[in-house]
Amino acid sequence: MKAAIGVNGYGTIGKRVAEAVRSMPDMELKGIVKYTPDYTVITASRQGIPVYVPEGKEGLFEEVGVRPAGTIEELLKSVNLVVDASPGGKGALNKPTYAKWGVKAVFEGGEKPDVAEVSFSTLCNYNEGLDKRYIRVVSCNTTGLLRLICLLDRHIGVKRVRAVIVRRASDPKEDKGIVNTIKLDPPAIPSHHALDVKTVLPNLDIESVALIAPTTLMHVHIVYVRLKRESNLNEVIELLSSIPRIALIEASRMGLDSTGKIVELARDLGRKRYDIYENIVWRDMVKVDGEDLTIVQAVHQEAIVIPENIDAIRASLGLASNAEESMELTDRFLNIGLLR
Ligand code: NAD
Repeated sequence: MKAAIGVNGYGTIGKRVAEAVRSMPDMELKGIVKYTPDYTVITASRQGIPVYVPEGKEGLFEEVGVRPAGTIEELLKSVNLVVDASPGGKGALNKPTYAKWGVKAVFEGGEKPDVAEVSFSTLCNYNEGLDKRYIRVVSCNTTGLLRLICLLDRHIGVKRVRAVIVRRASDPKEDKGIVNTIKLDPPAIPSHHALDVKTVLPNLDIESVALIAPTTLMHVHIVYVRLKRESNLNEVIELLSSIPRIALIEASRMGLDSTGKIVELARDLGRKRYDIYENIVWRDMVKVDGEDLTIVQAVHQEAIVIPENIDAIRASLGLASNAEESMELTDRFLNIGLLR
């Protein structure tokens, strides 16, 4: 029997998680919860997704031609697990309602770590998520960093990490952001990214510095890793190529030397909304000097956490007993592996 899943909050992350759940063979999307009757409620209902709403708000949705399938509590009664994709901080406020109905929940990176029993990143700690009632999937930048760090650590060993994060100012749909400046985010070291990585790898020696740039497309990371032993370019490139969630591209040979061009590539390849689930690592920007490794990568903030959300659902419900089993299904049914 398929696992019954609900999605509470249908914004940037929620709508992508909902679609991903619908494409998985072992999951069924029972419905999504919408708070306001905006354009996304129309796109959801056109796709045949049942829309649940807060009690008392039914009339507002009927006015835009969408008949709600029921209230939030009615959705919660019918699911095994809810993915809470509400604005950062609201998930903690929703948690008592999940507890009331005995429903497991996956929270997002905008929540404080203590919202859940475990902060989660598939390659690092899938097993810690097994059968947990509450899991928090770490944020977009942290997911991008942890995929790299845990892959390198498993095969070569990681002694310490220093990272510079060039953040996008806002998501494309948001009418906000900086225009003509580069801003410290925050004016302190470390930025919250190193601290967020430590919610998954508490003993890792990591520092991060973050800047906000006036762009909406992707983040860019410059990552310096001290390995536990000497390595070489061939070994590192082979390792990075070994999982579909990391895509290696060549800036000079392919003419892909900017986030704008990467987004155009994803569009041309037919990715819906140009969603890029993979860490995009520039092959030209990988350098190994004995134990010292430098990597530059781009991360699509709107899509990168979607595979890990699907894996977190599987871990919590025990649908796959290990990371490899879950990743194989997630990656196959989301068609992950840009340029493979
Ligand atoms: P969003 O603002 O795009 O979407 C949030 C949705 O939740 C909206 O549709 C809103 O109407 C709805 N909502 C309002 N109140 C709610 C409530 N009480 N309960 C449930 N839903 C409610 O936000 P988002 O960008 O999708 O972010 C969701 C979470 O994902 C946050 O924790 C955020 O930090 C995290 N995240 C965001 C990104 C990103 O780049 N956008 C990347 C990774 C993780």
